[in-house]
Amino acid sequence: MKILSVNAGSSSLKFQAYEMPDEKVLISGVMERIGMEKSFYTIKINGDKIKKELDIANHKEAFKILVEELKVNNIITSLDDIKAVGHRVVQGGDYFDKSVVITDDVLSKIDELSSLAPLHNPASITGIKAAKEVFKNAVEVAVFDTAFHQTMPKENYLYALPMSWYDDLKVRRYGMHGTSHKFVSQRMNEILGRTDTKLIICHIGNGASISAVLNGKCINTSMGLTPNAGLIMGTRCGDIDASIIPYVMEKTGMSAKEIDNVLNKESGLLAISRKSSDSRDIEDGIKNGDENCILAQKMYVRRIVDYIAKYYVEMNGCDAICFTAGIGEKSIDTRRDVIKALGVLGIYLDEKANNVKSEERLISASNSKVPCWIIPTDEELMIAKDTFELVQ
Ligand code: ADP
Repeated sequence: MKILSVNAGSSSLKFQAYEMPDEKVLISGVMERIGMEKSFYTIKINGDKIKKELDIANHKEAFKILVEELKVNNIITSLDDIKAVGHRVVQGGDYFDKSVVITDDVLSKIDELSSLAPLHNPASITGIKAAKEVFKNAVEVAVFDTAFHQTMPKENYLYALPMSWYDDLKVRRYGMHGTSHKFVSQRMNEILGRTDTKLIICHIGNGASISAVLNGKCINTSMGLTPNAGLIMGTRCGDIDASIIPYVMEKTGMSAKEIDNVLNKESGLLAISRKSSDSRDIEDGIKNGDENCILAQKMYVRRIVDYIAKYYVEMNGCDAICFTAGIGEKSIDTRRDVIKALGVLGIYLDEKANNVKSEERLISASNSKVPCWIIPTDEELMIAKDTFELVQ
């Protein structure tokens, strides 16, 4: 069965077509600058990468172009060959604890939740509506970033704030990257050969979050109401003293919007290193003795270690620590610094095994009390798997 996995942004559309259940990628790519000048798309097929420049007026046009590519490359002969389209949706609130077939009711709930994800949910709605217009007979499925975290107990998702904020404004911890945390935890359980496990999943990319997954279910995660909680990220501050915000607003006259922009786009690694939000640049800086980069990495690693320790205690131990996403998969130095700080828990690194990028691999030493793994994430495949399951 052929299934499309898509991620619609306000001016972009990432896509992957799969043959399921074989999990074979048939084509993948991204349309960019949709509705803008100089729009283009890139596709990857059979190991080749092709870039084409042409007008892409809107997401419906983007899907039509995709259909043409699918036909030209002999992936489909008719539109009806695509049986289902799985859409990444960022915020599912507490309405959705799993992926669902999209009905009018689902669509209106995604719309209602736009206030919690103003940049993302409206883009998803645009993508879903456009796909419905093009793939008239396909089943549309929504796969939520928040769904995997819906199993958190109340004591972990509530903030110690007036309950009316939760009741009336839906202020609570939702968590993000759920599709990745789910994929990695399922893969880790496959490797361990059982599901009664205690896992700590470190999804550390430009955005970053850590989850505690007990017996396949998330019980805690570091992101909160928004993706700007928990870890220090490329440009996001993560956890801070909440009262810093009114303090700075009063002192500087900055508006809520301006402050939000600083906390999300001008903080994190970028602010401390005074150089870059990209961990490759931080690593280069450290090699050149740049004090700001050294400090940024120390703070960055400290926060990750804090969360690992917190979840280790919360689960009364741990069966595996997993590293995934851009930094988790590729930054040899960050994994090393994190694991080296966990010696007190009897967790030890195998330096040689750690010397790899983007490879599924055990990287802890044989005497380590907890195995540490690199598990490359695959959110697109997870979307396709959930979609396939629902269509069946
Ligand atoms: P997101 O999906 O949140 O945008 P990714 O998971 O793609 O982010 O991670 C991107 C980040 O991964 C980059 O910003 C960079 O910090 C880091 N990264 C990518 N490649 C490497 C590498 N070879 N070494 C160290 N860090 C890397």
